[in-house]
Amino acid sequence: MMAAEAYNKIEFFSGDSIPLEMHKVRMVQRLYLLPIEERLAAMQQAGNNTFLLKNRDVFIDMLTDSGVNAMSEQQYAAMLMADDSYAGSETFFRLQKTLQEIFGKEYFLPTHQGRAAENILANAFVTSGSHTMMNYHFTTTKAHITRLGGTVHEVTTDEVLNVDSTEPFKGNIDLQKLKATIDEVGADKVAFVRIEAGTNLVGGQPVSLQNMREVSQLCRRLGIMVVLDASLLADNLFFIKTREEACREKSIAEIVLEMSQLMDIIYFSARKLGCARGGGILTSSEEHFKKMRTLVTLYEGFLTYGGMSVREMEALAVGMRETLDVHVISQTPLYVEALGKELDKNGVPTVKPWGGLGCHVDATRFVQGIPQDQYPAGALAAAIFITGGIRGMERGTLSEQRNEDGSEHLADMELVRLAVPKRVFTYSQIKYVADRVSWLYENRELIGGLEFEEEPETLRFFLGRLRPIGDWQEKLVAKFKKDMPTGV
Ligand SMILES: *Cc1c(COP(=O)(O)O)cnc(C)c1O
Repeated sequence: MMAAEAYNKIEFFSGDSIPLEMHKVRMVQRLYLLPIEERLAAMQQAGNNTFLLKNRDVFIDMLTDSGVNAMSEQQYAAMLMADDSYAGSETFFRLQKTLQEIFGKEYFLPTHQGRAAENILANAFVTSGSHTMMNYHFTTTKAHITRLGGTVHEVTTDEVLNVDSTEPFKGNIDLQKLKATIDEVGADKVAFVRIEAGTNLVGGQPVSLQNMREVSQLCRRLGIMVVLDASLLADNLFFIKTREEACREKSIAEIVLEMSQLMDIIYFSARKLGCARGGGILTSSEEHFKKMRTLVTLYEGFLTYGGMSVREMEALAVGMRETLDVHVISQTPLYVEALGKELDKNGVPTVKPWGGLGCHVDATRFVQGIPQDQYPAGALAAAIFITGGIRGMERGTLSEQRNEDGSEHLADMELVRLAVPKRVFTYSQIKYVADRVSWLYENRELIGGLEFEEEPETLRFFLGRLRPIGDWQEKLVAKFKKDMPTGV
């Protein structure tokens, strides 16, 4: 790979602050920025829940990176070449061959998205009373395991909850904790150990290759299967390349192969990895392959599409190859850093070090004085939308389930995630976001809490409706119009 070889000679920033984009934009989508009164009305109509906003009311959509990354011209071109068929399409074989070459694993099972792969894995390997250790849970992963009576243990380093850290690999598994937990439950009760690349719920924090190696060695000694959730692998690869001394001279392709050899099973959401749609599972064990194969045909579709369209599969094959180019995978980390730096200049608290996926604003320090049961991160997400038409995602107490007795389960952290999908935004849009969030920070004493108007029993953050406690949103609008008389 030319680009990978040239890496050591190429800078990622110009003049140490402007992120370099090694692509140009050749197709665009018109955006609209509503005046602030209409943003307020849209937020209230959406029950102060950013999931319930309509796209047409959103200016900068930073809800997620899932399925909204910009594709390359090669990906679109490949989609036209798709070979459609229920069974045995050429498209599937092209995708399979690509994945075999990149990961060095013989078997590939396609699924319609990441959680579908988790469903298959859980059904194949999790039994009631079994245990699964992981650096940190992801919402859908945990739900699939606990639904089948399995228990999830988080064995991340203590540093992971430090929001102002300098630790480069905060997503690492703590080996002592892992050993102690395995000893406690017994190795024969462990379904598998799961490593999540680019740890989603704690700020897109990476795992080092060295840590993966140590976890793998320990598990192999004990006969325990190691599973990699590679959904957020692209950002994690960039951090291994740039933060892990021993990997500086390695190409991304070499790092992926080495990593893959440490894993028994790799699964991913292609809504994130490969800038496409769909997902899948990779293994080199024929036994594991056969065990999961029947579940794919049962839940996903025939083995040569697994719920994906042939166009998605073509885009994924090309997107996977592009993931080996360090200038493709640098995009999100560089923009997260650029946004983090701008916010930092104005004192806005963010989770550090800046990771992948998005910039995480720390609501605990931002809106002091709102108790956790009035959802400070949810209130901040609503205020950010009103202030700038910017849609983020609450990742705090609102995203938790209530305890059995109906009391609030208070989250470890109260965050608003401003996701940075790959190649979607321009640098000036990032600066706009920083500018509006910084204005809000200066006026943070105006932000008040939220309370539920309608609270679903499960996954309440998706569909729940809330109202502001008091008239703080109207006051915020009034102050904004005083500072910015045009209202935008
Ligand atoms: C998004 C995600 C999943 C689930 O993938 P979907 O395609 O949304 O079902 C699993 N694991 C991680 C780490 C993710 O970020």
